[in-house]
Amino acid sequence: MRNRFVIGNWKLNGELDANAVLLADLNQKVNRESGKFCAVCVPFVYLAQTQNVLGKSNIGWGAQDISRYVAGAYTGEVSAKMVSEFGCRYAIVGHSERRAMLGDTDAVVAEKFGNAKKAVLTPVLCVGETLDERVAGNTENVVMRQLHAVIETHGVAGLSGAILAYEPVWAIGTGKTATPQEAEAVHAFLRAEIARLDVEIAAAMPILYGGSVKKANAKELFAMSNIDGGLIGGASLVAEEFLGIWQAL
Ligand code: PEP
Repeated sequence: MRNRFVIGNWKLNGELDANAVLLADLNQKVNRESGKFCAVCVPFVYLAQTQNVLGKSNIGWGAQDISRYVAGAYTGEVSAKMVSEFGCRYAIVGHSERRAMLGDTDAVVAEKFGNAKKAVLTPVLCVGETLDERVAGNTENVVMRQLHAVIETHGVAGLSGAILAYEPVWAIGTGKTATPQEAEAVHAFLRAEIARLDVEIAAAMPILYGGSVKKANAKELFAMSNIDGGLIGGASLVAEEFLGIWQAL
């Protein structure tokens, strides 16, 4: 059995008072379940608050990004080692919003992936196609290119212990979810692609789906055999929604 995950991505949202309420609610209601992991990836400035509230809970936490650099004259950057000092277990790398708007090329994502692993964080590597790429029939080429950029740099063994997230760009924050069958087809493709290089790593690799997951559609997505949970944006900001998704895992 593969480990299963529900991971929230707060994006550029939050404020101290509202975070305190949301985190306390999750802390109270997320039960411990073997093989299932719940986590929230919060803005850097809220890592200390998150660590204080969730420190002894069943919920992990992580960063939404880390620097491609390790240390030095890179004003404004935050390193993998720095976030690990705040108890982070996870770091999202290659989110489509960063790829599209904030300069994260495949090569940069591969560097960030390596930095996360060196700092003993679990990288959550996001891949996914735009609507134009899907319509042009390029979904598999795009996710393969994004995946192989990491494999070429770190070897297939580098994927061991990481999490992959398939997030079709056209489904993120749009309310349009991939159907369970559409998502499953890409998840199965990604697993087969990894299996060509290493069958064991492929079999153990959690592949999460992200893109407008809500408590109303989580169960049918999570029922697919290659979908091992979800990366949740908007719905992770609402305790009742996020808890409903966790319960569907
Ligand atoms: C995300 O930001 O990774 C995401 C999946 O967002 P949403 O759930 O809001 O579509």
